[in-house]
Amino acid sequence: MSRKIQTLDSDVVVIGGGIAGLWLFNALNKQGYKALLLENASLGGGQTIKSQGIVHGGTKYTLSGNLTKAAECIVGMPDRWRRALAGEDEVDLRDVRTLSEGHYLWSPGDIGSRMTSFFASKALRGRVDQLKKEEDFPAIFKHKGFKGKVYQLNEIVLDIRTVIQALTKGLESRTLKVDWNSDTKVVSANGGIECIEHQLGDETLQIKAKKYIMTAGEGTADLMKLMGISKPEMQLRPLHMVMLKHSHPEPLYAHCLGTKIVPRMTITSHPTEDGQWVWYLGGEIAEDGMSRNPEEQIRVARRELSVLLPWVNLDDAEWATLFVNRAEPKQNKLLRPDAAFIQEAGSTLVTWPTKLALAPNLTDEVGKQLQHSDIEPSGNDGFALPEGVVHPEICQPFWTEALNKNA
Ligand SMILES: Cc1cc2nc3c(=O)[nH]c(=O)nc-3n(C[C@H](O)[C@H](O)[C@H](O)COP(=O)(O)OP(=O)(O)OC[C@H]3O[C@@H](n4cnc5c(N)ncnc54)[C@H](O)[C@@H]3O)c2cc1C
Repeated sequence: MSRKIQTLDSDVVVIGGGIAGLWLFNALNKQGYKALLLENASLGGGQTIKSQGIVHGGTKYTLSGNLTKAAECIVGMPDRWRRALAGEDEVDLRDVRTLSEGHYLWSPGDIGSRMTSFFASKALRGRVDQLKKEEDFPAIFKHKGFKGKVYQLNEIVLDIRTVIQALTKGLESRTLKVDWNSDTKVVSANGGIECIEHQLGDETLQIKAKKYIMTAGEGTADLMKLMGISKPEMQLRPLHMVMLKHSHPEPLYAHCLGTKIVPRMTITSHPTEDGQWVWYLGGEIAEDGMSRNPEEQIRVARRELSVLLPWVNLDDAEWATLFVNRAEPKQNKLLRPDAAFIQEAGSTLVTWPTKLALAPNLTDEVGKQLQHSDIEPSGNDGFALPEGVVHPEICQPFWTEALNKNA
């Protein structure tokens, strides 16, 4: 690295610009912290854009009668996001596009009757409402071919690219694109991080912070190695998602109930620029699909849709699949953690939100840790990276590459 050195003092450096890092970065800046965001690819381009965009409210825990303390925090998330969407939270999501005000749950055939008494229980009242009148059904179920039951969940579905845009808006000058193999390195001292050095032409930019926060999703394990941190460990949960672009006019946001707690299929719909929909299929089909190649997975998905929604004509659909990992802190028996995870390691915090919906919870918990370490906002008027740095771009929709490859 060169000899010309420029130092930038910040309060917090957030590393990784997915939903966790972006929500945190946005909130810290609103609170007056000098916060920077470092990203090595595109903003939101990891799990975040590949998620189904559902702001979960913990319905499945009420279903299984398993509403533990950890699970309770997810129950409050839809309302927290709604406040942000209404401009009533420190994070302002008023520009975000809501794809659906409710996520639905439908039960084909006889499973429906078995589940009815379950749904009528007190625990579920207010969280899961059975839609009694056909006129209230999502359009796709207003068909004589549909025989099951439909329930509405207290879960909204968002256009995630617009969330990423809203969280970044006005803060671009505090974001930095980094490449840990060439232009950026960690300088350690006394078992902690001294600074991050970023090469900028013939100058070295030394970025100093009171806290470094890792929100790099699947990249966190490598980042920890780079920073000499061995704990906590990470686990990956692999999924084989399916997408189909077609001209059927009705979107669908629903879990299809199967015999397991994991939905047989979770379908979300995402509008494309040319006025069509991409249906994105997850749930059991994506978990079980890891043993199938893309052609087999598409065959299974076609068959499932023809059984579950036989009246929906998808003849013109273009199909593709996507292998993607959920990245989480290591748990016994690959159990899914249900609150944001944060662990302190010297001057760093290692974090995983474990769900998109839990990004506000992660920010709240980091806030407590900063207070605990007496790290106060030092005021950020005019705070910015120097001119000439490269800012990371916002990612493209999840289907762009996969469907183009198959075209
Ligand atoms: C298929 C699928 C569907 C899902 N659906 C839902 C859903 O509907 N609802 C829900 O609540 N949750 C859902 N989830 C979970 C949710 O998507 C994740 O929990 C959440 O997006 C994780 O966010 P993150 O910011 O931790 O990670 P990511 O979104 O993966 O972001 C990490 C960021 O860090 C960057 N990065 C990586 N390494 C480095 C490095 N060394 N330096 C700098 N930057 C780095 C990456 O490029 C990326 O931008 C889903 C997950 C998957 C896989």
